[in-house]
Amino acid sequence: MTQTPFVIAIDGPAASGKGTIAKRLAADLDFAFMDTGALYRLTGWDVLQTGGDPGVEEDALASALWLQEHFTPEMTEDPDIRNAAAGNAASQVGFFPAVRQALYDLQMEFAAHPPGGKKGAVLDGRDIGTVICPHAAVKLYVTASTEVRAERRTKELQGKGFPVSYDEILADMKIRDARDSERAAAPLKPADDAVILDTTTLTAEEAFVQAYEVARERLSYSSSHSE
Ligand code: C5P
Repeated sequence: MTQTPFVIAIDGPAASGKGTIAKRLAADLDFAFMDTGALYRLTGWDVLQTGGDPGVEEDALASALWLQEHFTPEMTEDPDIRNAAAGNAASQVGFFPAVRQALYDLQMEFAAHPPGGKKGAVLDGRDIGTVICPHAAVKLYVTASTEVRAERRTKELQGKGFPVSYDEILADMKIRDARDSERAAAPLKPADDAVILDTTTLTAEEAFVQAYEVARERLSYSSSHSE
């Protein structure tokens, strides 16, 4: 009998530190990792590249359905999807329930059958603990103040050579946070049973150590109760 994979769901707003935590947890535990924001970025970026409007449902859905068919993990490495335009387009396409449904299937499949025969999966996003994997063994909601998140994102993008300013990133982040939290379909919010991790005053290392403790404790609880 094959064991149901362990799922670690990590949600939170942009630049809260969730991506770094999720990747490291996956590496340490030898679980598969999926950055679900990349699916929305790929969809939004495809709309822009094909001359569509990410705020128009028909255009957004056409790109999401294309991605559903052609997605490969290598696509998430495309540096173009990391720019601010792609981030904004991602948040626009993610507003539409039909787009979310198309991307739901990709995420569910990944969680149910982690690639490479791994015994678990870590997914990070906005609605993993609430919608995609409500039965995840571990749920973390990683957050930080808007100003600190904007500082982190500015440094990250400048480090990659994008000519961005703090003010521009902060303004962008506020718009994106509001859109993500206020949308009707799968809004950004912690699951009732998520552990909240505020990284405002934590280093990346401190945040990881805290997340690892939570994951270890919950996973050993799940293992001992699944036999
Ligand atoms: O995490 P990242 O900043 O790459 O996500 C880009 C956008 O994709 C988010 O602002 C959000 O609107 C959308 N998204 C989503 N649900 C997810 C992941 C991302 O709606 N699970």
